[in-house]
Amino acid sequence: MSVKLQTPIDYLKGVGPNRADLLRSELGIHTYQDLINLFPNRYIDRTKFYKINELQRNNAEVQIIGIITSFKEVAQKRGKRLVADFKDDTGMMELVWFRGQKWIRDSLKIGQPYVIFGKTNWFSGKYSMPHPEIELQSEHEANLRSSVQAIYPSTEKLSNKGVTNRVLTKIMQQLFLETNGRFVETLSESVKEELKLMSKPDALFNVHFPKTPELLAKAQFRLKFEELFYIQLQLILKNLIHKSKIKGFPFSKVGTYFNSFFKDHLPFELTNAQKRVLKEIRQDLGSNAQMNRLLQGDVGSGKTIVAFMSILMGLDNGFQCCLIAPTAILSVQHYQGLSELCKPLNISISLLTGSSKASERREIHKNLENGDLQLLVGTHALLEDKVKFKNLGLAIIDEQHRFGVAQRSKLWKKGKTTNSSQSSQSDVDKAFIPPHILVMTATPIPRTLAMSVYGDLDISVIDELPAGRKPIKTVHRYDNNRLKVFKFMKDEIALGRQIYIVYPLIQENEKMDYKDLMDGYESISREFPMPEYQISIVHGKMKPADKDYEMQRFVKGETQIMVATTVIEVGVNVPNASVMIVESSERFGLSQLHQLRGRVGRGAEQSYCILMTGNKLSQNSKTRLETMVRSSDGFEIAEVDLKLRGPGDIMGTQQSGILNLKIADIVKDKDILQSARYHAKAVLKVDPRLILPEHSVILETYRQMSKYRNIWNYTS
Ligand code: ADP
Ligand code: MG
Repeated sequence: MSVKLQTPIDYLKGVGPNRADLLRSELGIHTYQDLINLFPNRYIDRTKFYKINELQRNNAEVQIIGIITSFKEVAQKRGKRLVADFKDDTGMMELVWFRGQKWIRDSLKIGQPYVIFGKTNWFSGKYSMPHPEIELQSEHEANLRSSVQAIYPSTEKLSNKGVTNRVLTKIMQQLFLETNGRFVETLSESVKEELKLMSKPDALFNVHFPKTPELLAKAQFRLKFEELFYIQLQLILKNLIHKSKIKGFPFSKVGTYFNSFFKDHLPFELTNAQKRVLKEIRQDLGSNAQMNRLLQGDVGSGKTIVAFMSILMGLDNGFQCCLIAPTAILSVQHYQGLSELCKPLNISISLLTGSSKASERREIHKNLENGDLQLLVGTHALLEDKVKFKNLGLAIIDEQHRFGVAQRSKLWKKGKTTNSSQSSQSDVDKAFIPPHILVMTATPIPRTLAMSVYGDLDISVIDELPAGRKPIKTVHRYDNNRLKVFKFMKDEIALGRQIYIVYPLIQENEKMDYKDLMDGYESISREFPMPEYQISIVHGKMKPADKDYEMQRFVKGETQIMVATTVIEVGVNVPNASVMIVESSERFGLSQLHQLRGRVGRGAEQSYCILMTGNKLSQNSKTRLETMVRSSDGFEIAEVDLKLRGPGDIMGTQQSGILNLKIADIVKDKDILQSARYHAKAVLKVDPRLILPEHSVILETYRQMSKYRNIWNYTS
């Protein structure tokens, strides 16, 4: 190619230093290449015209033919604005300019038919269009090469500085002129042929200057496929490399701990899902590669027992294990539960949290290092450098989304450097071996997203609840039904049950939210007076010790009602709590509501979730509430959540390359994603190192793309 795509954008004719700066700062366009990859966010049909009496108050972009009948200047706070009356055969509207008035006044002609294009505003009984794109109708017709016109992403600053869509289109045209549209192919012939994909140069041309809607669709498909293909290729390659390069401790045997627990102490029959997942984990642990597995399972699906039985595999092979939970309360609960399971097997277990006493700590440190301690349960405290294991073989993290990458990598480093044999060997034989890692989460991530975000990680899913669980009854109630809700609460308390009432706490709104919480607490206290009723309150402004105290009162059953902000979101287990009331539930996200609801339904009793809202609800809130009432399936809820919010807000995706998608849409292009993954796998299956001549295109393109990073990269 004659023109290098890495050429700085300043060199493109028609750009110049000012516009180049703007393109860089506003759109991240530094080079020709970046510009080509500035894909339109939508297209409009430039053959479609609106009449003025068809306009609606929705701010949409429209195209209208009409004539200017007069100009006037209107004084305003600072300076003045230029206003033109614009009419067609159905009505009148105004065109408004705040800048460049003289030039506009001089160049526009009264009484001539113009095509205007832009967003309309409805203001004091009239429609107006600020800074319209405007062109004589005759010119418009002469210029019209295609019915479909690309609309590029823009920013306020860009349009303020006159870099309109028309300017961007011109610049893009110039780019195609200078490069002659000769772009290199980036997919292999076989993939292209199999899927009947458009060539790269044709796709690029048609995505920017579509000749027909059909060609546009083909172009978009090709480019979306390519984008997703390379992400998948990268993820799968990483997984392959990981498996071949990163050695793990082979837990070769299933020993006494596991077998005796399974035969004599398992408190219930495992669900089929639990059995399947255990098998997957065992396969990992038995291989020579380090396990890096995500275990997804809805609240109450029984992840803990799976964790424990994995731990037994570690212990059977002579390794130490640890389990980390994000909060002190949760790790205490795990410690208590696991201690019960450990007792009959004579397994040594300790708890380490931020509030462990110095003497306890010393004891733990000592026993960890000499190997007397087999299982350590705790919080972040466990990640501190002082905590050294003799031979950590398996680390389990519960509720993954509360942990950051840095913390995971600390865990990774708690593995050990081994001598390949007991006798002294040269340093060369010393290899660092990280522990196996199992991350457990109750925040289901839709499969499509998981595939992209965690594509380099192995995923296990428990998609089945233990038998005999009573589904939680979920209802939506408006605030004006509160008295009935109070009555219901009293009935439940009379039956000996406990109740959560949760208030939203959103950072931007903190002050108001605390007020709501305290008001709510007061009215509950009036309705449920002492001494008959006891109420706990827990919120973020309390000291940890006070929080803990209030929490414990509820856990022990000394209080019947727990009023709280979302601090209880993660993990507390109070089987006797049977009612979850969520105040202002329209302000919660779906996955949060699902998590909250999971706090009840843990005992034998029928449980309830009551979603309180005001009377006015947005469409989006209605969908969320309806989904909660209808479904208790975490994966289904997560799918709806993904559709409503997009991937940006879904837990764990923030640092992933998936958000930088340039043209594909992880939600809408699910099928393309699946196909891309399939083809990436197929290519790597025959040619894992991409050394075959027919894959040289792929290898070359892959090398050029170092942009996507992802969050599971411990080693770098
Ligand atoms: P989560 O996946 O939310 O961590 P837990 O592991 O805490 O769920 O399990 C929830 C409850 O279900 C616990 O009381 C646990 O003992 C119980 N449980 C787990 N598996 C089974 C099973 N197969 N049959 C019956 N009860 C089970
Ligand atoms: Mg759990």
